[in-house]
Amino acid sequence: MRHFLSVLLALVISGCAGCNPREDVIPGQIEATALVWQFYGNTEPNSPEPPRIEWVYPEDLDCGLSEDGIYQGFYRRQVPIEKTLGIKPQCVAGVFWSEGYYTQVAHKIGFKFTTSAFAHELYHAHLWRSTGDGNGTHTDPGFKPGGAVDQANANLAAAGYADEQVEARHD
Ligand SMILES: [Zn+2]
Repeated sequence: MRHFLSVLLALVISGCAGCNPREDVIPGQIEATALVWQFYGNTEPNSPEPPRIEWVYPEDLDCGLSEDGIYQGFYRRQVPIEKTLGIKPQCVAGVFWSEGYYTQVAHKIGFKFTTSAFAHELYHAHLWRSTGDGNGTHTDPGFKPGGAVDQANANLAAAGYADEQVEARHD
């Protein structure tokens, strides 16, 4: 906990959320990322690298309360146009930022790769790298039921990633 707070403070002071990715690589993350990223078609030596992943842990989850009393989401940072238009902060389970090329994914109590926004946000990143548009409106077929994201999660489940990642958090 103390360690996490010091990391958080460092991030706030530097004004650079997610600048310390090594601190946040959880068990299975590298393999799970490679599995999903390659499934999306990034299999060539010159394919883009996956984005950095910043986990948002339970103490920072404060919205999207589930029926069993678990917070699933966080209020993502607002972009300038949203502030200008007075749009309320959005509660999300994950977000992909093209600027800085990273994602933030809720790591709720009972976290599993397959039920988190992990594969979903990687798909935004993949679209952004391959088309220049991360498709924030989710019109791409890959976001539809049975699409690439669901298939990626099925592949993760088949590889054992549907299990609860109880050791994921390091304090
Ligand atoms: Zn999305």
